Amino acid sequence: MEVCRQRRQQGHSIPRLSTLAAKRASREASWRPRTRDSTSTSSSLQPRRYREVKCVVIVAIDIGATWTRVAVFEQRRMLAKKVFGTAGGEKLLERMVEAVLELVDRGSIDAIGVGTIGPLDIRRGAIVKSPNIGGKTIELGKPLAKALGTPTYIVNDCVAAVWGEYVYGIGSENLVYITLSTGVGGGAIVDGHLLLGRHGNAHEIGHMVVDVTGFMECGCGGRGHWEAYAGGANIPKFAKKLVQVWAEKNPNIKRHKFYQSVLEGVTVEKLYQTARQGDKLARAIVDEINRYNVVGFTTTTNVYDPDTIAVGGSIALNNKDLVLEPIARAVRESRDLVTAPPKILPATFGHEAVLYGAAAIAEEPPKHLLKAIEYNTNNT
Ligand SMILES: [Zn+2]
Repeated sequence: MEVCRQRRQQGHSIPRLSTLAAKRASREASWRPRTRDSTSTSSSLQPRRYREVKCVVIVAIDIGATWTRVAVFEQRRMLAKKVFGTAGGEKLLERMVEAVLELVDRGSIDAIGVGTIGPLDIRRGAIVKSPNIGGKTIELGKPLAKALGTPTYIVNDCVAAVWGEYVYGIGSENLVYITLSTGVGGGAIVDGHLLLGRHGNAHEIGHMVVDVTGFMECGCGGRGHWEAYAGGANIPKFAKKLVQVWAEKNPNIKRHKFYQSVLEGVTVEKLYQTARQGDKLARAIVDEINRYNVVGFTTTTNVYDPDTIAVGGSIALNNKDLVLEPIARAVRESRDLVTAPPKILPATFGHEAVLYGAAAIAEEPPKHLLKAIEYNTNNT
């Protein structure tokens, strides 16, 4: 791929960390805030916080529970993307390197950003015993930086997404990103500071307890966690247990045509589609899932006091009418809030929020992330 041809013709070598830091410093020195109503004829991404940069090539990687996406950005525009199944994780590293090199020359990359499912050990850049990839631990930091000879920055996927909203999107100093997808996750910026935590897991909001009765078991082994009720991997199990409990009280439910589908393990897509068609049982299940979503959103709001919550993830984005809008309404009216209700909006970059976030992390890594990570050496 032709990236930054002019720079390569001039014989520039792979930038080192210090070079990128110098680029950042010079950009920040010339930074001027954009006004909200500023317009541009350029088709490239228009960041709110930074002036446009010259010729920075970023590889962004989004490691999801099901799919891994690899993309190349030049001057903040996504040029190309490859998607493959995360599939157990054994060959994940190898496949990521292959995909990157199919998209871009090794020597053209300025930095790599990775947003991944957790939990993480942020110092090593490792996914640690993730329930979403069969409890495996995968070292990414050192091997990726070494294989591609480029500074690499690895954070939780929702941390990447909230940083992407901060640098390229909404730009607010008090901002939360929540994903409702295979799992439930979040990232938070408080007073302009990206929360990371000791191990990089300061925002595992999907594992907050939303039900002290522990009706559902989470993939992590805990009980009553938000993700166990509203994560796509768990919704079919939750729906089944719900209708079984409801049927004990009201056996007539068993005659409902959707009841059998739920017992057999209805897909998330089918559940929301059936609810949208007006089926009462499907609608009752969706409403029950939303009760837990509202507890999660209100608690998150009370903890971080954001002015905006950007929501991503396929369940929220594909079902705005049945998920996003009812949650936003209920949070606005909630008596459980001890602070002002935030705006609740779809993520600026939709299904690609993590990719844009990973690009933002690589381009503008926060200082405390640079301090925490141990895997970028002089050899990268
Ligand atoms: Zn959990």
